[in-house]
Amino acid sequence: MLQIESRQFAVERGLFACIQCGKCTGGCPMAMKTRLNPRDLIYRVLVSGNGFNLEGREELWDCTTCLTCYSRCPKQVNPMEAILAMRGAIVEKGKIHPNVKTALESTFRNGNPLKMPRSDRAEWAKELQLKAFPDGGAEYLFYIGCTPSYDPRGQKVARALVRVLGSAGLDFGILGNDENCCASEVRRLGEAGLFEAMVEENTAAFTELGVEKMFTVSPHCFNVFKNDYQKLEVGAKFSAQVQHYTQVLADLTRDGRLKFNGSFEQKVTYHDPCYLGRHNGIFDEPRAILQGIPGLELIEMDRSREKSLCCEGGGGRMFLEGTNPGTRLAQQRVQEALDSGATILATACPFCLLTLEEAVKHLNAEEKLRVLDIAEIAERAL
Ligand code: SF4
Ligand code: SF4
Repeated sequence: MLQIESRQFAVERGLFACIQCGKCTGGCPMAMKTRLNPRDLIYRVLVSGNGFNLEGREELWDCTTCLTCYSRCPKQVNPMEAILAMRGAIVEKGKIHPNVKTALESTFRNGNPLKMPRSDRAEWAKELQLKAFPDGGAEYLFYIGCTPSYDPRGQKVARALVRVLGSAGLDFGILGNDENCCASEVRRLGEAGLFEAMVEENTAAFTELGVEKMFTVSPHCFNVFKNDYQKLEVGAKFSAQVQHYTQVLADLTRDGRLKFNGSFEQKVTYHDPCYLGRHNGIFDEPRAILQGIPGLELIEMDRSREKSLCCEGGGGRMFLEGTNPGTRLAQQRVQEALDSGATILATACPFCLLTLEEAVKHLNAEEKLRVLDIAEIAERAL
């Protein structure tokens, strides 16, 4: 029987504070289209007596970890963390969702979930002659991440960012083929054992390399390094200052080191990635970069900042394709961008970029709206 001990589970996660107001479910974007219902899930745990049965609870895999539930809860209950813990209990019993088995196995073997060889990780940068960290004595480690390293669309963002940072004279180096997956999605998919092993491995590597300052392309990598590593004993030594690249660019713009000599004459609306906005409160820096670009007109969608609609790329859902057919949230989001009158939908996350771009194609809206990362917009205005 696939059960969790309900009372202990509820106590450890503060679920007894829940007043069943339903604000979590009311805001949950997946509750509109799947059986996922965070309020009801908590209720069933609380009334389940000695054991809560996880068998057949397929909706647990529908959570995108967007954090809307927690951000709306008046009692600071975190349904998302409860869902992740339930996923963990399922995975611990060896019941790994078939769709994610390959991604997890590849992360273990190849250091990325994309089934790509480790030896190809730095291919994206082969023409760029970047410093190797720490041999080049660089100030910052530029942590690229799996999607910008291997995905052709993500690679364009990484290269654009290199050119923007280079124009501002930032001193950075990369790990090349020695870079390993950050394990963010491993944690979201409930594989706690593999997550712990990877935190230990990465923390040891960063400590040995003497990494003091680093930045990432993806908000998911940024979040896991900043918020999750040190919670584990094996990650306690992780001490680097971690930033998302939008924070670095905003600082460089403010200090006058990043200058836009060109312009970008477009109406741009910005989609707040969940792991940058709701998870980490970074709303102003991406907007500051965009507002500093000559010619760019920034338009807000109705749902922006804390209320931003998730694109459905988080929580391991990039690897759960097919579990939940129907209209993806990214399609709703693209429709909102079209309704705003923008011609460019900007974001700052490789997962958002891929899901939103796919949605634009699905809606046959390529002639009306283009999806670009902030790094790409900045590069066009150099
Ligand atoms: S994290 Fe987002 S998708 Fe998951 S339960 Fe909360 S609101 Fe719903
Ligand atoms: S918003 Fe918070 S208090 Fe209200 S039902 Fe959800 S978890 Fe319970």
